[in-house]
Amino acid sequence: MAIRRIITKEDPTLHVVCREVTRFDDKLHELLDDMAETLYKAQGLGLAAPQIGIRRRIAVIDVQDGSGLIELINPVVVKTSGRQRDVEGCLSCPDQWGYVVRPNKAVVRAQNRDGEMMEYHFEELGARCALHEIDHLDGKLFLEKVDEFVDPAQEEEE
Ligand SMILES: [Zn+2]
Repeated sequence: MAIRRIITKEDPTLHVVCREVTRFDDKLHELLDDMAETLYKAQGLGLAAPQIGIRRRIAVIDVQDGSGLIELINPVVVKTSGRQRDVEGCLSCPDQWGYVVRPNKAVVRAQNRDGEMMEYHFEELGARCALHEIDHLDGKLFLEKVDEFVDPAQEEEE
């Protein structure tokens, strides 16, 4: 396993629509392992392949709710419901935080590392994180959805 370099928002790879994964081979497994290691090292909740310069529809998330690491390959959001508004950040947008409105629940179908179709029912932080990462696969950053930016220094004083 290896730590990969996380690119930042200026990089064009973060602004393109990523391609589907078609080969569920050792190379994919190595990439997924590297993404997990990179995610944990960076202490993030989720990481999408374009954030390490790979234009493929892959994301890993772990919102520390006991579900462990979830690997999403070719994910599709099939249903959303409810509404939540909370502060979001992104490993590719260091020092930027802001409120984003998202659905409170999301049903996502995705393949696992062996190519099997799975269905996940995400809620609250899990839904926020999954939808944030899936946006990355379409070249979208959370910044465009922020309705109010937050100054981290000011938040700490409150
Ligand atoms: Zn992000």
